[in-house]
Amino acid sequence: MYNDNGDDMNIVDIINKKRENQMLSYDELAYVIDGYMSDDIKDYQVSSLLMAICLNEMTSDEINNLTSIMLKSGDTFDLSFIKGTKVDKHSTGGVGDKTTLVVAPLASSCGLIIPKMSGRGLGHTGGTIDKLESIKGFNVNLSNDEFLTQLNEIGLAITTSSLNIVPADKKLYALRDVTGTVASLPLIASSIMSKKLAINADKIVLDVKMGNGALIKTKDEAIELAKIMINIGNNFGKETIALITNMNYPLGNSIGNGLEVREAIEILKGKGDNDFKQLCLALASYMVSIGKNIDIEQARKEVEINLDNGNAYNKFISMVNHQHGDINKIDISDKTLNYKVQMNGYINGIDTFALGKYVMSLGAGRETKEDIIDYGVGIVLQHKKGDYVKEGDILATVYVRDENISLEALNNIFIIEEEQKELEPIIYGVVK
Ligand code: URA
Repeated sequence: MYNDNGDDMNIVDIINKKRENQMLSYDELAYVIDGYMSDDIKDYQVSSLLMAICLNEMTSDEINNLTSIMLKSGDTFDLSFIKGTKVDKHSTGGVGDKTTLVVAPLASSCGLIIPKMSGRGLGHTGGTIDKLESIKGFNVNLSNDEFLTQLNEIGLAITTSSLNIVPADKKLYALRDVTGTVASLPLIASSIMSKKLAINADKIVLDVKMGNGALIKTKDEAIELAKIMINIGNNFGKETIALITNMNYPLGNSIGNGLEVREAIEILKGKGDNDFKQLCLALASYMVSIGKNIDIEQARKEVEINLDNGNAYNKFISMVNHQHGDINKIDISDKTLNYKVQMNGYINGIDTFALGKYVMSLGAGRETKEDIIDYGVGIVLQHKKGDYVKEGDILATVYVRDENISLEALNNIFIIEEEQKELEPIIYGVVK
């Protein structure tokens, strides 16, 4: 390949160019990604370029080009033979985030096709696939044929990716993870959107989380990320919208795989935590609104009807049955410890990142991809941010395998103060 001057391309020139904040062409980005995939370009060279991208950002043309090149590194689904509008949903991840378990069957019960490929948890956040595996027998490894057949039959399937979906992202993400280059909006956007585009749904709803338990810490950054991803989606002909949502406290009251499935089922049965329920209703409503081209109020009505009349719950059960799960056997430990409040006051803050790490340390998450997780452990918060609590009240029930573990690490996670602070909303806004 040749550069703009007609000379042979060279990785060092490309790194230098980005270091000097110049724009890389499609061919230069393709040279890097293809060369990295064939091992001609080395980890240390790509790390250096990734860091230059972190420091100098990318233009929207570069981001669209990078996404397109990453997408082409693997296979894409053809869903065209399935009748109906296919809508995908993605969350940038958080603590206690089990929205897919509710939103996917809810939107599907309103008539949409929901082709969902989900991931496993890594670091302080969980993954939908691990949550589903806490249901005995649930098959998260559908073959492509099984995935498509199930979508055709019931309009909903959740699986790990069995196709060769964006292998360039797998390799790049592993490198970003160990080189301090995850936190770059262009890299996050192209990583997420290349995978969404490979699934090839017609429309996409994004849940961009911000706060102390999320990858993105500020509202401005979350909005910027949302805009970049929407631009990519639209550029590839997929209507895309994003909700900016709160991750300054965990979502719902349960964190841990089996416990989160139990909580999702409560919501599907019309009960459960109101913040979590409101987020699910909002996400599903936007999916239905763009999926059916109807206004958001009408979509919300449809969603509420299908939650209240049990259709969404039945759709969830139908998916569990199709994927050979036994809904009566969700792995939840029967050993619990109570963590008690240490002073009177209002819960004004929760270090959500630290709480996610704590639950992971119980065995619910992985430090490395190889770690084996325990689906049955976790934590159920008995109080939420904003509640007034008294010394000795039970603040959290900790589900453990070993009753001798220390709960001391929880002492630094909850901020309890005399004066009540203003509560932030669960949804900050919608970006279109
Ligand atoms: N999730 C992804 O899939 N990619 C990123 O870069 C960050 C979060």
